[in-house]
Amino acid sequence: MKDLTMEKLVNHCKTVGFVYRGSDIYDGLANTWDYGPVGVELKNNIKKVWWKRFVQENDNTFGVDAAILMNPRVWEASGHTTSFADPKMDCKECKRRERADNLIADYAKKHKIDIVVDTMSNEEMEAFIAKHKVACPTCGKCNWSSIRQFNLMFETSRGVTDESQNKIYLRPETAQGEFVNFLNVQRTSRAKIPFGIAQIGKAFRNEITPGNFIFRTIEFEQMEHQFFCKEEDSMKFYEEYKQKALNFLLDLGFKKEELRFHDHDKLAFYAAAACDIEYLFPMGWSEVNGIHNRTNYDLSRHQEFSGKAMTYLDPTTNEKFVPYDIEYSIGCDRLLLACLCNAYDEQKLDGGDTRIVMHFHPAIAPYKVAVLPLQKDLNDKAREIYKSLQKQFMVTIDEAGSIGKRYRRQDQIGTPLCLTVDFDTLNDGTVTLRDRDTMEQVRVKTEDVAKYVQEKIAF
Ligand SMILES: [Zn+2]
Repeated sequence: MKDLTMEKLVNHCKTVGFVYRGSDIYDGLANTWDYGPVGVELKNNIKKVWWKRFVQENDNTFGVDAAILMNPRVWEASGHTTSFADPKMDCKECKRRERADNLIADYAKKHKIDIVVDTMSNEEMEAFIAKHKVACPTCGKCNWSSIRQFNLMFETSRGVTDESQNKIYLRPETAQGEFVNFLNVQRTSRAKIPFGIAQIGKAFRNEITPGNFIFRTIEFEQMEHQFFCKEEDSMKFYEEYKQKALNFLLDLGFKKEELRFHDHDKLAFYAAAACDIEYLFPMGWSEVNGIHNRTNYDLSRHQEFSGKAMTYLDPTTNEKFVPYDIEYSIGCDRLLLACLCNAYDEQKLDGGDTRIVMHFHPAIAPYKVAVLPLQKDLNDKAREIYKSLQKQFMVTIDEAGSIGKRYRRQDQIGTPLCLTVDFDTLNDGTVTLRDRDTMEQVRVKTEDVAKYVQEKIAF
């Protein structure tokens, strides 16, 4: 386990402007968070490098941006209307609502009882809780209501009347937006199997489980790639996407020993294979992304419910079939949390000073360069350099405080390069670039800075 605690990270994020509590001045809203100035840059950069890797550099992949609100029939086809539910019970003493399966899993872990909660029926769960007198984590009593299935989809209604036929849902996953556009994308892009459809977008789940900061939130962003292929090739591509997903994380700077595959023993009835990649978060190993061989289940279901043939005609063999799908899905907020955990470092410096430094991969760092004039009369020159770099990169300028303090401020938000402007800059047109991680400095001509930065942030 790392030294970093979630509490320490939450504080740091709040202090420097990565993440604030949602609706903060109203004492928050449970499991919602807002990204601050450096947080939104970090998040945008994560999305950018993901899109570059899985769309731009991925042969035969096409992007979509589907609507959050979809025809309710979509959720009947996907099964979410009937089976996307958690087993909930209420504490009759303190009114706290809990997930029965989570309570049992926690209890079993603590008391070293070997059970598989996922396969338990409501009756079995109620019996377990009664037998072991599993207590309410809030008030410590054991006085539970019976278990009710609680659908995780957020409902809303369209139009002015509140009748049930107007009921629509905020999408609980982005995947259906890719499935319903399968034919559109295939035709308009003249895509040949195998090909992929990628999307980044928001999804909503009415979770009541405490979320470990931005690990589990009720509103979150998914980055997702569906890869459509022939049945006989599906396991090959499944393995390939496991590797691609892992390599993406390694290239972002994650350590091999802090990542692991978790292959699922228990599969959804339609799935041929499924695995997660887990990362060693401060709270322990937890999932960051999933890779699934979903067979041709989703397209077949949409074919059944929409009455539209979701088939592909192979131009060489003239064979007509509903393609298999390899899904690779990663939570943007969850990856961002992992990036924060991976980057966070406290270092003792010579002279007894300490610094907090975020060792982000430069490609995802909020600011690429901080321009720091050494003295007041260099501010104009510094502004001129800042203005020219601004056209290509997200840069910041800091004119106040000792140079040491200004370095610390950039270290704690992960700025890879600090550019200092001194009197030599006026004479010979050179500046000093200081590296965030090594703290080493190099002298570079002003006109070469952009190229230097470009190389530094390549992904
Ligand atoms: Zn209680």
